Amino acid sequence: MANFNDDGLVNEIKRRLSIIDLVESYTSVKKTGRGYVGLCPFHDDRNPSMHIDEEKGLFHCFSCGAGGDILGFYMRYNNTTFPEALAELAKRANIPIEKAAPRTKGARGAGTLLKINSIASKYYQKTLEDSTRGKTAREYLEKRGIPAEVASEFCLGYAPDGWDNLAKFLTKHKVPLGLAEKVGLLVRRNSGDGYYDRFRGRLMFPIVNVDDKVIGFGGRVLGAEGEPKYINSPESEIYHKRSSFYGLDKSRGHIRHARRAIIVEGYMDFLSVYSAGIKNVVATLGTALTRDHVGVLKRYTERYVVVFDGDESGIKAAVRSLDVFLEEGLLPNVVILPEGTDPDSFIAERGKDELLSLVENAPGLLDFYIDNTVREYRSGTLTLKRSVKEIADVLAKVNDPVAKNGYAKKAAEKLGVRENELLSLIRFGKGQAAKPGEGAAASTQTSHEKTLLSALLKFPELSENAREKDIAGDIANPDVRAVVEEILTNGVHDASALLQIFQGSPAQTLITEALFSSPGISDRDTAGRMIDACIKKIRQKKLDDKLKMLRLRIDEAVRNKDFALEKEMLREYSELRKLK
Ligand SMILES: [Zn+2]
Repeated sequence: MANFNDDGLVNEIKRRLSIIDLVESYTSVKKTGRGYVGLCPFHDDRNPSMHIDEEKGLFHCFSCGAGGDILGFYMRYNNTTFPEALAELAKRANIPIEKAAPRTKGARGAGTLLKINSIASKYYQKTLEDSTRGKTAREYLEKRGIPAEVASEFCLGYAPDGWDNLAKFLTKHKVPLGLAEKVGLLVRRNSGDGYYDRFRGRLMFPIVNVDDKVIGFGGRVLGAEGEPKYINSPESEIYHKRSSFYGLDKSRGHIRHARRAIIVEGYMDFLSVYSAGIKNVVATLGTALTRDHVGVLKRYTERYVVVFDGDESGIKAAVRSLDVFLEEGLLPNVVILPEGTDPDSFIAERGKDELLSLVENAPGLLDFYIDNTVREYRSGTLTLKRSVKEIADVLAKVNDPVAKNGYAKKAAEKLGVRENELLSLIRFGKGQAAKPGEGAAASTQTSHEKTLLSALLKFPELSENAREKDIAGDIANPDVRAVVEEILTNGVHDASALLQIFQGSPAQTLITEALFSSPGISDRDTAGRMIDACIKKIRQKKLDDKLKMLRLRIDEAVRNKDFALEKEMLREYSELRKLK
């Protein structure tokens, strides 16, 4: 897949093929004032809702939200994978097939980059094994219960303290430092010449693809201080976090054999589960599970158990992953660990067999979702109307009609509504998500977030302000947040590059929507003012949510006659109020 994911090839296709020509071969398109519109082939369209911008090479449907570039259109219409679309469109653009195949200039470049990673990986591994330099890191592994055999099986390493240990080593081995920068091992100095090491004083986890090539690294800080705890290689020609797993190179045989994959989050969780002898496991890498991930795993099995930490963010992540699986037509199982534990600490405290028994008895992720929504309804976080609507929206995505009816029955019973009512919402409720009324607060919030995204995409030079205000983490919509993070943290501004990163994710629609739907943001000053206003609104909403949550908890404390807790929370409440 990586070989095909060649930016050069994608750009060449876009240069040679017009998105209008492609769309026109599937549906009728006509010219209007600002561009082209056509009947959208992705929903039952009566008035042309699909807009196409020939210059940008993008399309967006204002009715169903479908959007993307020429590759995205082809993939969606013909239901193909990215490499298939790339191969077919390369053919149509008369780009010689060998240019699209692995043995191209780009691919030879990829080979060199992989080699540099392999040299660095060996360097880190040697440093870990060094009796003096690697001592702290080895002690850390021992403390965390990772045996030396496992450390060596996964080629774990150590990036020593200091600014240029790796840079010097690579220079000695005649590695062009600019290429080492390309894979994110080195960072160019701000002032003066030269480069410094990205990973310093960190335990190193090489990320290896199924062809046994090192495509990137994760580094964990040693000791209590140091932030962030983990850093990963940035996206590069050879490393795509949205489709890469940690450990799949070693575990895929076990996954096939066990006919099931256990999915955890992060390196240490993976290694502790694997070290305990449960080897049919993979880990995602600092990103939520995506459809690309599931696409990769589908080659080995279609049965999954996702394991999440027993805290609020673990539950949120579990709920978020549900959509990804449903879109792929899969119904996985889920383990939510007891509060305050992760796989690593769970195994240390209770042993491998208890974890295995949780995995064996894991409920369906959809059952978990329904129970969780019912719980939120009962605790007063969600209204009945909202709970019914949310469950109906999710069930609408279940392909298997028998499963769908079974779940509808169960959910209706638990919420105390009639099954028919829920079923009719499932049938007719699609596409009404943003209707005013109950969801209005949420949708105005989303609209501020989307406006911020539009302004950032149209005027990338204004992103410094948003970066300084550190707004990304406060964005409530997870898809908008992911795109804004990509723009602010990794400095990716180009719409095509963003569309590639979010291939197949709902975020893709947001990007095209943001570019098509904000004619008001036409000049820099307006955009700057809008960014400031949106940031303010987003902050305010976050504060309001916190206050609302606190009020619910205060009520609960009163019900439980816990007056000490009530007093403490009232104090917190009035402190927060002052910030308004
Ligand atoms: Zn549409």
